[in-house]
Amino acid sequence: MSNSNIPFLDLVTPHVELEQELTTVFLQVIRSASFVGGPMVENFEKAFAAFCETQHAVAVNSGTDALRFALIASGVRSGDVVVTVPNTFIATTEAISQAGALPEFVDIDERTYNMDPVMLRQYLEQKCTKDTSGKLISRRSGRPVTAVVPVHLYGQMADMDAILELADRFGLIVVEDACQAHGAQYFSSKQNRWLKAGSIGRAAAFSFYPGKNLGACGEAGAVTTNDEKLAAQIRMIRDHGQAKKYYHDVEGYNGRLDAIQAGLLHVKLKHLAKWNEQRRERATEYKRLFEANGDTVSTPFEPSWSRAVYHLYVVRTQDREGMMQCLRAACIGTGIHYPIPLHLQKAYDHLGYVPGDFSVCEAVASQIVSLPMFPQLTDEQQARVVQEIQRFVASVAASRPALSDSAKLEMIGEKG
Ligand SMILES: *Cc1c(COP(=O)(O)O)cnc(C)c1O
Repeated sequence: MSNSNIPFLDLVTPHVELEQELTTVFLQVIRSASFVGGPMVENFEKAFAAFCETQHAVAVNSGTDALRFALIASGVRSGDVVVTVPNTFIATTEAISQAGALPEFVDIDERTYNMDPVMLRQYLEQKCTKDTSGKLISRRSGRPVTAVVPVHLYGQMADMDAILELADRFGLIVVEDACQAHGAQYFSSKQNRWLKAGSIGRAAAFSFYPGKNLGACGEAGAVTTNDEKLAAQIRMIRDHGQAKKYYHDVEGYNGRLDAIQAGLLHVKLKHLAKWNEQRRERATEYKRLFEANGDTVSTPFEPSWSRAVYHLYVVRTQDREGMMQCLRAACIGTGIHYPIPLHLQKAYDHLGYVPGDFSVCEAVASQIVSLPMFPQLTDEQQARVVQEIQRFVASVAASRPALSDSAKLEMIGEKG
C-alpha cells in the first residue's frame, strides 16, 4: 500500500476541477467592476435559499456575522441570555456576545455530540425562574433568557422537534447555527417530513469559510429565514443600517459580501448536493471498514431522524494522543473539533464555569479525533487510515503486559 500523504481536507482538487468556471466569474467581476453586492450576490442568495428550502437568504461576509445579525434581527437585546452548547467553535458564542448577550450553556448528547434537549429542559425548568412580569430569568446571571442557538455540529442536525417544543413553551427565539450543516436534513415527526438545516428556526447562520461543505475562496456567510421582515432587517444591518443610500434607520455594520465570492459560491453550489452525497458515502465506507476491523474506535451515530452531511468525521477513542501521533507518522492528517469546551476557555473565565459543569462535553472533548473527510477521498485512502488505526490499537494492546510499573504509571498519568 502506498505511503503517500492523506490530507485531512483537500481544497485543491475541487477548485482545479472547476477552474474554468471559477475563472469566468473572476473575469465577469473585473469587467463589470461590480465588486460588492449587486446581481451576482442576489442571484447566489436566491439559489442558496432554494437549496435550503427557505424563502430568503441574505449573504454576509462571514458565518460569525451571519449569526450575530440573525440574533440581533430576531430580537435578542443587550443583556439577554442566549443558551447554547459548549461543544462548538467559539464563533457561536462570539456572535452571542457581539449581539450584546451573555452565553449560557447546556450539555450535549453523548451519542450525537449536539445539544441534549433533556439538558435544555432541565436548564429551563430548574436553572431559570419567572419574574413578576412572567419573564424567564436565569438564576445564574439574573438576566432574561430570550433565545437558544442549537448548533448542527459536524454536519448533523440537533434534535429540532424537541428543542422547538421547549422554545415554544418558554417563549424563546430559535436561531440555528448551521455553519457546518449545509444541506443536512432532519425528519420532523411533528411535521411528518424531512426539513433542511437552516429552514427550521426563526433564522439560521451559515458559514462559507473555505473548509466548510460549501466554501468560498475567502470569507463569506449567509442568513436564511422564512420571515420577510427579518430578511429585510438583516439586509439593512449588513449595510450600515441603510435600506436607501445614506438614509440610516439604525447603526449597522459593514457585513456585505463581495460579488466575486458570491459568484464563486454560485458555481460551487451546483455541486454541493453531489459533494454531500459523496461525503455520506465516505462515512458509510468508514463505518464498514471499522466494523470489519474490530471496531477500534466509536464511529459517528446517526439517529433515524438525521441525514448528516459529514462536514467532519469524528470518532472517539481512549488513546487519542497516541493515535494521532501514529497517524501523523503515517502522513495522515487529523484534527480535534474541539479540544477545549467553550466553558473552560480562558476567554470565558468571567462566566465562572468550572471543570465538571458539563461532564459529557468534557469527556467527549478529551476523546474525539476528526479523520480525513472530503468528497474526493478514495476507498484506498480510507482503508489505509483504518489500517493504521488498527495497527496502533494492536500495538498498544500488545505492549501493555510488557510495560514496566513506572511506564504504566506514566500512562495512567497521561490519561488523567
Ligand atoms: C465556521 C463556524 C462558524 C463561523 O463561521 P465563519 O465564517 O468562520 O465566521 C460558526 N459556527 C460554527 C459551528 C462554525 O463551524
